[in-house]
Amino acid sequence: MTPSRIPDADRARARARMIDRLEGQGIRDKKVLAAMASIPRHRFVEKGLAYGAYDDTALPIGLQQTISQPFIVARMIEILCEGRELGRTLEIGAGCGYQAAVLSRIASEVYAVERLRTLLDRARENLRPLRLPNLRLKCADGTNGLPEAAPFDTIIVAAGGLSVPPALKNQLAPEGKLLIPIGNTGQRLLLVERQGSIFKENWYEAVRFVPLLTGTE
Ligand code: SAH
Repeated sequence: MTPSRIPDADRARARARMIDRLEGQGIRDKKVLAAMASIPRHRFVEKGLAYGAYDDTALPIGLQQTISQPFIVARMIEILCEGRELGRTLEIGAGCGYQAAVLSRIASEVYAVERLRTLLDRARENLRPLRLPNLRLKCADGTNGLPEAAPFDTIIVAAGGLSVPPALKNQLAPEGKLLIPIGNTGQRLLLVERQGSIFKENWYEAVRFVPLLTGTE
């Protein structure tokens, strides 16, 4: 069934259930919940999957990539929002554009980079009707950060690396925060907080992301 044939009321109910579930899973930040409630997730997944768009699962978005489950999207943003504004934000791994859209509701500016050109084109199409003026997309290898727009108050990486790319640490603003899944077989979220020339590291929960690769295609 195509998204257009799913009644709006069903979608609205599914989205409301997603927000209730996120609260049940421990997401407390009202800003994050409101941002998640405002973005139509069904517009970002493949048409045949639109019915499951609000379930708590990762879903395929083409080219062997996945949109993260809603809980992980909300949780990562909540960790980065704790006690602060997101400010100028860089997302590495824009995929279908969903998380970038959620971030754009909270951050002052969002730059989202994606290494796969075809996927980025899809993200642009998905995002166009939402008219998010503070979101910019670029096809680039995010392991280099985005030097032309640095420094960033917040950097969020939506693909798993084996270590933190040095360029990302260098492009953090003096009080900036970076969240990245790290690990080979077992990944965990690593929060890097810059305090001037010092970088503090804290580990969070286990996650499963597609690998952070290099180059563009
Ligand atoms: N945040 C996305 C889902 C991310 S899936 C969403 O909301 O849909 C992870 C994405 O990271 C994939 O699309 C993959 O192509 C991309 N990726 C992996 N390594 C990358 C790199 N070095 N630079 C930019 N994007 C990268």
